[in-house]
Amino acid sequence: MTLAEQAATPRVLISPERLQERVAQLADEINRDYADTQMLSCIGVLKGSVFFMTDLLKQITVPLTVDFFQTASYGPNKTPGEVRIRKDIDLSVKGKDVLLIEDIVDTGHTLRTVLALLEFRGARSVKLCALLDKKAKREVKIEVDYYGFEVEPVFVVGYGLDDAELFRNLPYIGVVDN
Ligand code: 5GP
Repeated sequence: MTLAEQAATPRVLISPERLQERVAQLADEINRDYADTQMLSCIGVLKGSVFFMTDLLKQITVPLTVDFFQTASYGPNKTPGEVRIRKDIDLSVKGKDVLLIEDIVDTGHTLRTVLALLEFRGARSVKLCALLDKKAKREVKIEVDYYGFEVEPVFVVGYGLDDAELFRNLPYIGVVDN
């Protein structure tokens, strides 16, 4: 491996083993909380949540459906707070118990927008599950019901999270050191 390639390899922040251990704990919690639920609507926010969501849902024992939103920020400067729905969900959420699955909660604007939409459409209940929570960066009040790890306000990649579309396939959460 060249020096340039080594420099480009993100430093490990959360190892694959710690991720898998925590995902299993979250699945246990969710299985307990939804034990009496007939059907759980699981909705991921593309693309970052996909790796986490598939690992998590394989361990959920409640009957469930899978759906996705894709969001984006408006404008060339990606104005925070202005969230656009790029891809809508396919299934109705009216009267459903929804588990919204996100990779990381940062300012909270994305989840607040999606939450408002789910409530507007008549979901019976909505709970949030995020792998990572950057609490220090929060701009809007968002209650995360299940989260894997709290992280410092640094830019993280891997396990679904990208840097200009790269690094999603890393099996760990890492930091790109400049
Ligand atoms: P929020 O609306 O909470 O500010 O932002 C949430 C979205 O911003 C996440 O779903 C993710 O796509 C992106 N994001 C926030 N922090 C990070 C980070 O540290 N790394 C990466 N790759 N994406 C992030």
